[in-house]
Amino acid sequence: MKITAIETLVCHARMRNWVFVKVVTDQPGLIGWGEATLEWHTRGVVGTIEDLSQLLVGEDPSRIEHLWQTLYRQHFWHGNGIIRSTAIAGIDIALWDIAGKVAGLPCHQLWGGPVRDSIRTYCHLGGGNMEDFYETPVDNAKRFGELATQAVEEGFTAFKTMAVPPTMPIEGNRPVRAAAACVEAMREAVGEDIDIMVDCHARPSPAMGLKFAKALDPYDLYFLEEPCWPESIEGLARINAAVTTPIATGERMTHLAQFRDLFAAQGCDICQLDITHCGGLSEARRIAALAEAYRIALAPHNPQGPVSTAASLEFGFSQPSYIICESVHADVPWRAEVVEEGYTIEPQGRTVRPNTRPGLGIEINEAEIKKHPFEQEVLQRTFYSDGSVGDW
Ligand SMILES: [Mg+2]
Repeated sequence: MKITAIETLVCHARMRNWVFVKVVTDQPGLIGWGEATLEWHTRGVVGTIEDLSQLLVGEDPSRIEHLWQTLYRQHFWHGNGIIRSTAIAGIDIALWDIAGKVAGLPCHQLWGGPVRDSIRTYCHLGGGNMEDFYETPVDNAKRFGELATQAVEEGFTAFKTMAVPPTMPIEGNRPVRAAAACVEAMREAVGEDIDIMVDCHARPSPAMGLKFAKALDPYDLYFLEEPCWPESIEGLARINAAVTTPIATGERMTHLAQFRDLFAAQGCDICQLDITHCGGLSEARRIAALAEAYRIALAPHNPQGPVSTAASLEFGFSQPSYIICESVHADVPWRAEVVEEGYTIEPQGRTVRPNTRPGLGIEINEAEIKKHPFEQEVLQRTFYSDGSVGDW
């Protein structure tokens, strides 16, 4: 068995261009699907996959670890920058899809079999619709309450919001009060039994992140995400030590050693590794093993396309400390046309039953992808009130 080609298919999905990776083999009909979506860096990732493919064409796709080592270590530069780690991830996920298809088993069966009966999912406010999730202003607490009610009406028992605005390194309490008002409105709207998550999007400094964390601590959030830059592991650790709310982070980390430093510093209680950015399922499994040693929970970052979701679910059915899967369902109205999935979702509760088909269990509709060719992603720029650059 040999790899004969590695192709990329780009599908413009408004906020993101989904980058699907197709690994083709010399066996009739045997292909693997991966995803390497990296918003605002689509051309970079596609070019990198083309560069890397020369290392793999002609090789045996069943030697996944050997090929991963090749992708990560050859050509002098290690594969830990975000563009290359995403490109490697897309290829690695597709190789696991092939391995499952060759064995006739879902991927999670290759990794020891299912460790749970179902996986809980959570949504973004507005279902991942760009305007609702990213652009609802934090001075409109009422709107947060309405969108929270909508999420629960759609069957979710947990949802995530962006209730923390872009904030200068030090600001007064105004943004903190606004965030607390939004969370209060959502809590009042949905009651005590629904889990609310707040994503700070690494907008605050460690000092402001600490303020937000303390102000939101009484609302019993399921987790508080990226309360400061991921580069500031000591800032994350300081915040994590100061509140009872579990701190979640990891979506911008690209390799095992970064997670080692994060875990050792007790920078989080929930690891949000992104399987499409951290080097794929091979590296994700190493990161998960390391997290297990620290008893850190796993809740992978997954706002991308349907192959990312399938990979995250296969991973989740094999990982004991996996607690919940991020999901978006209303980013584009034709999402379901692009993919046929092997798993089923319970409408009430939005829990997922395991995939029963080989590999990732997905069929990709290439004709549908062709209807949505590459377009430049929506430009996002953030400036503070004085005109200086802020974090989106
Ligand atoms: Mg996030």
